[in-house]
Amino acid sequence: MKQSVKLVAGNWKMNGLGASLAEAETLEKALKEQAAACRVALCPPATLIDRMAQALKGGAVEIGGQDCHAETSGAYTGSVSAEMVRDAGARLVILGHSERRAGFGETDADVAAKVEAALAADLEPIICIGETLQEREAGQAVEVVSRQVAGSLPASLAGKAFAVAYEPVWAIGTGLTPTLEQIEEVHAAVRAAMVAKLGDGGRVAPILYGGSVKPSNAREILAVAEVGGALVGGASLKAEDFLGIIRAV
Ligand code: PEP
Repeated sequence: MKQSVKLVAGNWKMNGLGASLAEAETLEKALKEQAAACRVALCPPATLIDRMAQALKGGAVEIGGQDCHAETSGAYTGSVSAEMVRDAGARLVILGHSERRAGFGETDADVAAKVEAALAADLEPIICIGETLQEREAGQAVEVVSRQVAGSLPASLAGKAFAVAYEPVWAIGTGLTPTLEQIEEVHAAVRAAMVAKLGDGGRVAPILYGGSVKPSNAREILAVAEVGGALVGGASLKAEDFLGIIRAV
């Protein structure tokens, strides 16, 4: 099966002020000196997208948003539309992150609607899925992620550029990671669910792993079958740590 180029994306979450752009510039400089063997993206808070896009213009680091509204415009105080995220300079957007699902009540249907909005704005969605610790302990991880794929990926994704990120909720920001066997099992199930939903259009998009990826564990995780890259939170805030992960591809 043809595999797409791996993607390593950094999710800065609600971290970063103007001064943090220096980290992005350090990363860009390092990748200019030695090109990455993968695609590299940084997803700063919405307030920094425009400045980061300007600072890294023409470079190797792609810029992404962390969310968008499903509607194109209107009375949605505090929200940004997919078109706005794109207009600010992003080319990708993280959607359905577990922190959005848990903290803002986003359902699979909400995520699917945001994916449609992202595609309409020519943004490449990174669609996050993952089980909670309770679901993992109840032996439901595969069932949960398969259901999330079926519900969060609209049929219109077939043939489009997108990625899915498997992020076990209990591994995010905790320092805990699943075993390599568990990652392999879930990624195989996610691929099967993508193909069930999108047919051949679900065979190529990379399935990223996310949850406490760091320079010391990146190499072994990125070598697991069907791991098409990584979505990185904490370790993407410092150029040196993020580079350690990028160099592990
Ligand atoms: C994330 O929030 O997407 C994430 C993977 O976080 P961390 O790497 O900090 O676990």
